[in-house]
Amino acid sequence: MEFIDIGVNLTNSDFSHDLDDVIRRAQEAGVINMIVTGTDLETSEQAVALCRQHPDYLFCTAGVHPHDAKDFTHISLSQLKALASEPAVKAIGETGLDFNRDFSPRPQQEAAFCAQLELACQTGLPVFMHEREAFKRQYAILKDYRDHLSQGVIHCFTADKTALYAYLDLDLHIGLTGWICDERRGQHLLPLLKDIPLERLMLETDAPYLLPRTLCPKPKSRRNEPAYLPEVAATVFAHRPEPAEHIASACLTTTRTFFRLNQPAD
Ligand SMILES: [Zn+2]
Repeated sequence: MEFIDIGVNLTNSDFSHDLDDVIRRAQEAGVINMIVTGTDLETSEQAVALCRQHPDYLFCTAGVHPHDAKDFTHISLSQLKALASEPAVKAIGETGLDFNRDFSPRPQQEAAFCAQLELACQTGLPVFMHEREAFKRQYAILKDYRDHLSQGVIHCFTADKTALYAYLDLDLHIGLTGWICDERRGQHLLPLLKDIPLERLMLETDAPYLLPRTLCPKPKSRRNEPAYLPEVAATVFAHRPEPAEHIASACLTTTRTFFRLNQPAD
């Protein structure tokens, strides 16, 4: 089976000493493409550079995570704009709201989110979003922009049924991580997995974070890797009625369409 990891933080220092091995193991596990997540200007630039070293295998996003929204300025917006024109950049983000950690003041999170949504509207690129305990505000903001946005994904969806259905009603995509493999905090997601239409469902590891707890044997290191994406997929397979091969190939099609991976750069 083949997979595309739509959210992997390959610029994280956890991967700096063995990135080539990490990429090789991902390829051996059937991960045929990865979207490297940009979480601030620096990692977005690093992600673009990494994509240049692995053309046609790695693609990336460019954006500023809500945790870093406090550093978001007009300078970063113009730099983001320049990055967005790079052929490897397939989405704006990671952006959104995080009222769980509140690492940036909420007004600054909202301002950075809106600016990046506007950039996504201007460029026509899809938007790669994070949301944690901020559903009401995120939904209200998104509703205003939705008609002008091409596509959007709520990556690492962890919220409840109400939020899921509301995001689906806004014609957004849903990204699932190893959170669904976590018996302590992901149980509520399992009965919802079958409610996500396959043309809206995408898979991700969010590596090096969120090592799937169902992995057996457990890796020595707690670091997650894109090679563990099939473990996330296996949990999805176990909680949907369709054959696994069908789900996997539908997710691939959904992902390629969303990130326009099968279209030549223009
Ligand atoms: Zn995130």
